[in-house]
Amino acid sequence: MFFDILTLFPEMFKGPFSESILKRARNNNIIDINIVDIRDFALDKHHTADDAPYGGGAGMVMKPGPIYRAWENTQKKRPLSSKTILMSPQGERLNQEMIKDLSQEEGLTIICGHYEGVDQRIRDTIIDQEISIGDYVLTGGELPAMILVDSAARLLTGVLGDENSSKEDSFFDGLLEHPHYTRPRDFKGLKVPEILLSGNHQKIARWRKKESLRRTYLRRKDLLEDKELSDEEKEILEEIKSETKGESDE
Ligand code: SAH
Repeated sequence: MFFDILTLFPEMFKGPFSESILKRARNNNIIDINIVDIRDFALDKHHTADDAPYGGGAGMVMKPGPIYRAWENTQKKRPLSSKTILMSPQGERLNQEMIKDLSQEEGLTIICGHYEGVDQRIRDTIIDQEISIGDYVLTGGELPAMILVDSAARLLTGVLGDENSSKEDSFFDGLLEHPHYTRPRDFKGLKVPEILLSGNHQKIARWRKKESLRRTYLRRKDLLEDKELSDEEKEILEEIKSETKGESDE
């Protein structure tokens, strides 16, 4: 999957895309990340990419010309159907469902705003979707773009090893994931649950399902309201409710 990222601050991407799982995914050609410096497409001698807002007021606005030309230049090499996304606090709030959909695309072009954001006419001409990473405002779209790339790449075949398949992660099936334990068996007097040492895979699977439901019930009841539970899950949830009377925030 390709990611063309248009930004005024290309250096910001160096660390996160050159370490660990994303580095390996790039080396294995599962993802192709192309960072484009919008300033290279500013025509004046000072490479001006932002200017004062019409109508007055604080802050600077990213000029439409450089962004448009940077976008045109990347699009030439890409399939016509590929989507252009603007990172924006005014966009649709990112969640795992959206990431699942986006990770099916051949690639994405991602535009990072900075300062007060981009000229409205960029939104009006080339943006297919605006995406927010949450209801708070950052200095730029660079960190949000990294979050989008990281979370989409994680779902692509071959990016994670089998040993940590994304299919069991929180939100994948609408629940939070169960707790994890590794060596040692005893840490400051806290023991690993016996069942995980039993070697009984069926019992372990049920324990994990139950702990996953328990966490979701205690922390994120809203997720349970949106999910269709199987008969087994309903039964387990009833068990949890009777065990945790008074503990939940009801
Ligand atoms: N004045 C704008 C905010 C500008 S923040 C407004 O009120 O809507 C500068 C840039 O940071 C934005 O253009 C966007 O690209 C990015 N950004 C800030 N917060 C974000 C968020 N929650 N999600 C995604 N992008 C965000």
